[in-house]
Amino acid sequence: MDKSEIINVSGMRPEKGKYVLPFLKGLAYTLKNFFSKPVTLQYPTQKTKRSERWRGLHRLNVDESGKLLCVACGLCAAICPPKAITIIPYEDEGGTRYPEKFVIDELRCIFCGFCQEVCPKGAISLTGVYDYVDYNRRDFIFDIEKLKKPETFEFKGK
Ligand code: SF4
Ligand code: SF4
Repeated sequence: MDKSEIINVSGMRPEKGKYVLPFLKGLAYTLKNFFSKPVTLQYPTQKTKRSERWRGLHRLNVDESGKLLCVACGLCAAICPPKAITIIPYEDEGGTRYPEKFVIDELRCIFCGFCQEVCPKGAISLTGVYDYVDYNRRDFIFDIEKLKKPETFEFKGK
């Protein structure tokens, strides 16, 4: 090797004792963070809180007795841009209307929130549930039972 290619680093080293302060600073920083609350969340067992305005899976709301608030007026299905909502209404002898069938295809949905906004009864809400994954489309077709409890969506993996 040509001697001109050798770099002498001895002159670049800081003077003796100049290591100590940066070393102590680094140590203090490490110790401070070692005892502070960790910012890392252990997802999926720990999750961040969603904003109130978050638009995740839908919920069909019920009254105190557990009865659906929905009167099957069909406004949400009519306004839904991708036609993700299917409703079959039913009217009992007393003239009370309710959905015999209420299905949302969550994979067609674009989570625009129009259904929630247009509903005259506050019967449908978009929740903070955002982590819904699976390998098949079938599990994303939500019927009334699933729409009552969107938080219970479970990854089945098949
Ligand atoms: S959020 Fe929008 S796209 Fe989804 S079901 Fe409601 S209206 Fe349809
Ligand atoms: S959820 Fe609301 S807008 Fe949709 S059918 Fe029921 S009452 Fe009508």
